[in-house]
Amino acid sequence: MLLKRLKLTNFRNIEHFEEDFNTLKIIILGQNAQGKSNILEAVNILAKSSSDRALRDNELINFNKEFALINSDIKTSDDDIEISLQINTTGRRKLKINGVSKKAPQADLIGNFFTVMFAADDLYLIKGSPSLRRKWLDSNLTQLSKIYHNHFATYQKSITQKNALLKSAFESGMSRKSLQEQLSIWNKQIIEYGAEILLQRVDYVNKIESFAKQFLNDMSSGNETLQLNYFSKIFSDTPYVPDVEKIKAMFEDSINNSFDEELARGQALVGPHRDDVLIQINDKEARAFASQGQQRSIILSLKLAELKAVEILKNEVPVLLLDDVFAELDESRQNFLLHNLPEGIQTFITTTHISDLQHDLLENALVLKVEKGKIVKKPVTSGF
Ligand code: ATP
Ligand code: MG
Repeated sequence: MLLKRLKLTNFRNIEHFEEDFNTLKIIILGQNAQGKSNILEAVNILAKSSSDRALRDNELINFNKEFALINSDIKTSDDDIEISLQINTTGRRKLKINGVSKKAPQADLIGNFFTVMFAADDLYLIKGSPSLRRKWLDSNLTQLSKIYHNHFATYQKSITQKNALLKSAFESGMSRKSLQEQLSIWNKQIIEYGAEILLQRVDYVNKIESFAKQFLNDMSSGNETLQLNYFSKIFSDTPYVPDVEKIKAMFEDSINNSFDEELARGQALVGPHRDDVLIQINDKEARAFASQGQQRSIILSLKLAELKAVEILKNEVPVLLLDDVFAELDESRQNFLLHNLPEGIQTFITTTHISDLQHDLLENALVLKVEKGKIVKKPVTSGF
């Protein structure tokens, strides 16, 4: 699939940006803090609805403006789609697809456009906190499944309500019985939607593992073996079985067993919002033992695996967004990445130094120079 045109209005520091993309490679060049990542972020939101970098929609809107607008023309393997997403300070979005207003702007965005984002920050995925790995799973699963998005939204709301109740129970000294009765309303929803989330996450992790294993094996000439395992407290005593009713039963047991601890801590302690992905290399935990180079290889394998997952599950080649990654990848890893990309993939690359990019990348590329949120020169091709 291709992003054929992008128009941004008041998106972060970009007050106005409009470009047609008639090439497969687009290089966004500029010094620090000029707006390069912001452009990629806007593209990523079209696929995943939310941004890894923003906690709230407000952050995406140019300071002192009422709304931000992302307009785009997209070409899929069998369609042309025009998406217009308005992000408002009120928190309510407006979405039009092919000129038609949609009732559910969050959910209806999903499934039209797919991206894989690879940013320098992704290196933290290995050493960083479990929340980063959960975010990684959630943003990828969101773009792949509207159902996942809806389940996740309901689940999050129920967790917020449960946490508020636990906190107020602690402060007000509510009786145990009354608290248990009130909690059961939220626990029921948490189990219902949490079990579905869990099933989809495990399935996705297994798929990513099988693809990423092969990439890492190839990259390391057979010396490195990758393992990914979904970790949930729910299965700490019993093995995982891909059966939603069994998962619900285990989930319920686990919540019941954690009642005292949840009450003492004033928060929900069991469920997908506390889970993790265990990443291992040659049977050792990557978080603790992977070298810098191994971490880079693992991330690269995971990103190529994400790409493959979209291709297989959605029958579309996603748009690849490479945010400042080439300075982090040595020549052999850069080559590996380039040689393992699917034919016809459209790639957006940001960089501060064109010299960080291999010659192959510059061929037939559109180079846009960004300064203070604006394209400063007419677009030039790299041959210029
Ligand atoms: P780097 O090379 O350091 O990664 P960059 O070009 O990718 O830089 P961006 O992350 O795109 O930089 O950010 C550009 C600028 O946008 C930053 O100075 C940031 O403060 C600013 N910015 C972020 N959010 C908003 C907003 N809502 N309104 C206005 N400016 C914003
Ligand atoms: Mg940046």
